[in-house]
Amino acid sequence: MRIILLGPPGVGKGTQAQKLSGEFSVDQFSTGDILRDAIKNNTSLGNKASSYMVKGELVPDDIMLGLIEKVLFGEDKPDGFILDGFPRTISQAEGLTKLFEKHKIELNAVVLFESDTEIIADRLSARRTCRDCNAVYNLISNPPKEEGRCDKCGGELFQRDDDRKETVMKRLLVYKKQTEPLIDFYKSSGILRKVKAVGSPEEVYKLTKSVIGG
Ligand code: AMP
Repeated sequence: MRIILLGPPGVGKGTQAQKLSGEFSVDQFSTGDILRDAIKNNTSLGNKASSYMVKGELVPDDIMLGLIEKVLFGEDKPDGFILDGFPRTISQAEGLTKLFEKHKIELNAVVLFESDTEIIADRLSARRTCRDCNAVYNLISNPPKEEGRCDKCGGELFQRDDDRKETVMKRLLVYKKQTEPLIDFYKSSGILRKVKAVGSPEEVYKLTKSVIGG
């Protein structure tokens, strides 16, 4: 299984990626999580990325393409993958296509999750993330059992700097301008599948599986 999950920040791509990864035993790669881990561990990648991330801007394409090549085709090359948060620009998508050609692999599907901007802005402001395992909660629709603690690992839940209201609006604008053009890019290759991301994560997951034939 080789799948890209596309859609605005906060639409639920990460949750769907975790579910698919668990059920189909496929590796899931969230470039946002990889970058946040890099910042936490003070690596040179983290240092390069952090100033863009706090402002809600995209990290430059050359950095992201270098990262994804290492993740997908480096030493621990996965058999299949679910990409959450990559590609995010036309230039990243073109670079990824070149990598696939070079390594002679094909994508199965690009799943586009669609939702209203207002719903997404509210959802992002209520999102909390586990500092230790990156699990994602929502204070309204999916609260943790114990306030401020991760159900899975007991880690501390926090609000990402870029999930604060001011930055959320910026990220949604960036999505519209830089990432939405990917819809036409993948439509023309015939592998784009659309999912209306309304309802519970379980309902969305059913739709997701139906569009990828799982
Ligand atoms: P996410 O968790 O996917 O919302 O990503 C959080 C932030 O990480 C984004 O707002 C960007 O600053 C950065 N980021 C993640 N993936 C990419 C990407 N493919 N290209 C550029 N920046 C990215």
